[in-house]
Amino acid sequence: MALKSITQRWFLNSFGVIFVILAAVVAVSGVSIHNYYYSAVKEVLNNQASTVDGMMIRYSENTVTSNFYTEIRSYVESFPDKNMIELMAIDLNGNVVLTSSGFSYSSRNLPDYTMAINSPRGEGYYVGELDGSGDKVMAVTRMVTPVNSEFSAMRFVVSMEKVDQAIRNLVLMISAVALAVLGLVLVSGLFFLKSIVKPVREIGIAARQIASGDFKSRISSPSDDEIGALCTTINFMADELENTEKMKNEFISSVSHELRTPLTAIRGWAETLLDTDNYDAATLKKGMRVISAETERLSGMVEELLDFSRIQNGRFSLVFQKLDLLAELGEAVLMYTEKAKREGIQILYSEPDMLPIIYGDKNRLRQVFINVIDNAVKYSDPGGTVRIEAFARDGDIFISVADAGCGIAPEDLPKIKTKFYKANHTRRGSGIGLAVADEIIQMHKGSIDIESTLGVGTTVLIRLPVSGPEDAPEQPAILERKVENEQKL
Ligand code: ADP
Repeated sequence: MALKSITQRWFLNSFGVIFVILAAVVAVSGVSIHNYYYSAVKEVLNNQASTVDGMMIRYSENTVTSNFYTEIRSYVESFPDKNMIELMAIDLNGNVVLTSSGFSYSSRNLPDYTMAINSPRGEGYYVGELDGSGDKVMAVTRMVTPVNSEFSAMRFVVSMEKVDQAIRNLVLMISAVALAVLGLVLVSGLFFLKSIVKPVREIGIAARQIASGDFKSRISSPSDDEIGALCTTINFMADELENTEKMKNEFISSVSHELRTPLTAIRGWAETLLDTDNYDAATLKKGMRVISAETERLSGMVEELLDFSRIQNGRFSLVFQKLDLLAELGEAVLMYTEKAKREGIQILYSEPDMLPIIYGDKNRLRQVFINVIDNAVKYSDPGGTVRIEAFARDGDIFISVADAGCGIAPEDLPKIKTKFYKANHTRRGSGIGLAVADEIIQMHKGSIDIESTLGVGTTVLIRLPVSGPEDAPEQPAILERKVENEQKL
């Protein structure tokens, strides 16, 4: 399909135009050459006519009348150019009486003579076949000036066969050059078309394979032009799709795993409590505590998934209000201190006296702090320490969470904020926590910077600009209602 239309377009727009131009050049040059040659021959004959006329005037002035005819006769018979031009003398009755060839000429069909009689300048011109011979000739007749002569006109006749042959040769040569140019254009054009159409066809096949889910399909040997750049882009797109597909599959498997673990614990304790009639209060409390904690973990995960889905759909919104960041951070730290201690990890929080008041969404910011602290604890080993600091500097508020855990490899570091990306598959997690946190902080016009050394530890630095009510998005009331509705869902 592509082959047909691109080739057709090329034939019509490029080759067709060049063909028409060359045909016009051949036609115009043919006509010009013809006119040039014919007018040159005509001019030669006219010059001859003027020379002969001048000579006759001289003869008529210097010669006795009885000798005039003899003089002219001998001139005509010994005409210097008689090999090429035939000179004829026409008498007062319109008969050709003398010819330079010596052959008598009996025809009275002399269109140029008739034209000369009727022309005020006494000149006649004819191009056509000579009576009897069928040869193509050019004839010029000039009425003679001496009035007392027995000749009325002199006629010059030249064969045009050789001139026509010369014109034909020239036009043939020009046509041959034009054909050669056309051939060259055709060959180079088809070669060029092939160099476009072939990769375009390959691109089409690869794109269809990619569209049908074969993300391993690639376009081979891309050239170094725009088509090559397109091939490279499509190959890059296939790489990205393959990666995304892989990450998506890993995400589904890790989320299923994440959901199954708390469910197993909840089901185990529920069945234990149901099956046993005589359990003590401590066991009951312990079971209920596990069920409650695991339920909370499940609902946290479901909330994270919902947030992620809202971000993907562009329906993620914040409720901006005046907030005390220290209170939110303190709450998040408190939530994790006990949990970390149970896992043998120490949280050291150096709480500042105060931080500037800012405008933001307190629930979402707390969610970010929880996510980052959760990661620090999750990726630390027992005996490790997590240091949390908060400070204000140059109009920004910084919250730093540093751990001495497993760290992140340099090649993974730029990707860990990407959705589904998990650098470490040995610990629980869906790979979307940082993506959601990054989105929330960006919506507060802040940033998350992560520094890490594999095997040494990781420091996450959250920067939030000190903001006033003017920094809140417009129509907070609508945003608030939207979030309330979503929370009910
Ligand atoms: P997950 O739910 O898998 O923790 P996140 O989006 O929170 O997903 O983190 C993405 C990846 O970044 C993690 O899989 C982990 O490999 C890496 N990561 C995040 N925080 C830390 C940290 N404090 N120490 C080591 N690796 C971390």
